[in-house]
Amino acid sequence: MNIPATILAQLRQSQRMVVVTGGGLSAESGVASFRQAMVGEWANYDVRDLATPQAFARSPKTVWQWYDFRRRQIATAQPNPAHHALVDLEQHVSEFLLITLAIDGLHWQAGSRDLVELNGCVQRVRCVENGHLGDWDEEGSIPPRCPRCGSLFRPDVVLLGEGFARTHVLRARTAVEQCDTILFIGELSTADPVAQFPFMARRAGATVITVNRDDSMFAVTADYHIKARASDCVSELVRIITSGTGAV
Ligand SMILES: [Zn+2]
Repeated sequence: MNIPATILAQLRQSQRMVVVTGGGLSAESGVASFRQAMVGEWANYDVRDLATPQAFARSPKTVWQWYDFRRRQIATAQPNPAHHALVDLEQHVSEFLLITLAIDGLHWQAGSRDLVELNGCVQRVRCVENGHLGDWDEEGSIPPRCPRCGSLFRPDVVLLGEGFARTHVLRARTAVEQCDTILFIGELSTADPVAQFPFMARRAGATVITVNRDDSMFAVTADYHIKARASDCVSELVRIITSGTGAV
């Protein structure tokens, strides 16, 4: 890995770091994308009948069953070396935040705790009235009702047409505006607010680094672009950062 000395020094000295991940890192763990997951009986559905608030209002059972299917698919995936390396990075940097667009929960499973899951997590459910969190119940009615308030449970994910939770966006934006280094890892959606993060970080004077096989918008706007698969190189990158020595 031939990282310029100035970038390497910035990485090693970083006190306030943000890392952003999404669908690319999930794919490297074998997690199917939303479209890829629409197989078998689900292939005939329109996305608008599976993953919108309107669909849930019309047919909560269908939406629940779709996400239950997604959850079971995703449960077979395991964190990859990049997920594990980011847990080490969190321990090393004094102010650290991992922002992910993934819904698979693999960062949490790997051990990351300074984490904002902008799109939620398919392994959790929450009630529609009060946001009480719960676990998927294998038994009983579909969808089940919240034991605390009686409203329906729904998957704790952001459906199409819904915005991200305001508290999550605020926490993510604040970290980006205050960071000295930001890493974009793997293929990422270019939807707001994530598409704004490179520019926000630059305004804050941060160094912007991407790890991605493609020349994405994030790569083009970066100070340094590592053109590689995340699961192949992030653990090496983290080792170099955390050890303070090593071949570069
Ligand atoms: Zn409730």
